[in-house]
This record gives sequence, structure tokens and C-alpha cells, in this order.
Amino acid sequence: MDERLTTKRCVALIAHDGKKESLSRFVSDHMGFFQSVDLIGTGTTGGRIQGLGLEVECLASGPLGGDAQIAARITEGSVHAVIFFRDPMGKHPHEPDINMLLRQCDVHNIPLATNASTAELLVRGF
Ligand code: PGA
Repeated sequence: MDERLTTKRCVALIAHDGKKESLSRFVSDHMGFFQSVDLIGTGTTGGRIQGLGLEVECLASGPLGGDAQIAARITEGSVHAVIFFRDPMGKHPHEPDINMLLRQCDVHNIPLATNASTAELLVRGF
């Protein structure tokens, strides 16, 4: 049987500060989908999503290694999609960790949405 039919899949959520409001809105608008999967997130993002009433495993905050933790989970095979609302206008001290996370998505062929339009397509096709 297709593994996707028997295992609850895990979606990782991350948003830079300038995009946290936008991610919260996206999750609110797709509540049924996000209730149907396991969720993990970087610290601050995860806390915001918990505030919407969803269960989220919160890892470290991004600048403290949360992106790196999510990259490690991808490597281990326990994350099945990433929704990462990046702020293209911001500068981020943890850019190396962010690049590692994006690279691990490509290494392991994990769907990665970095903006709301792509996230919409991901949610529909997941
Ligand atoms: P945060 O981290 O959710 O802890 O703010 C996100 C990031 O900046 O990568």
C-alpha cells in the first residue's frame, strides 16, 4: 500500500518575521488541511501557529538553530513537506542554516513552498 495512505505526514512550518502574519493567515485559511497532518515549526513560528489552536512541535527559534533542526529531520525522513515563508527583503544571521534547509529539501526531493501561491498548490496536491 502507498506509504502516504498509512502514515500521518509531517509538514514543517517556518516564517521569517516579516512573513509571520502572512503564514498565520494562510494556515487559518486552510485549517482542515493543517488539522490533518503532523506539524513541526521553528520556535516563534510554531508558537504563533499553536495560537491558532493547532498542535505543533516547536523546535528552536530559527536564529538559534531551528532551521538546522528541521533540515536534520528531513535528512532522517520524518518531514514530508516544508512551507517556509521567506522574507526576500530581510537579512538573516542564520542564512547558512536556511541554505542547508533548502538544500536538504532538494537532496531528498521534499516539496518546498516559499510563498503563499506555491503553498496553495502544495496544500491542494499533497
Ligand atoms: P522563528 O524562526 O520561527 O523562531 O522566528 C524562523 C526563522 O527565522 O528562520
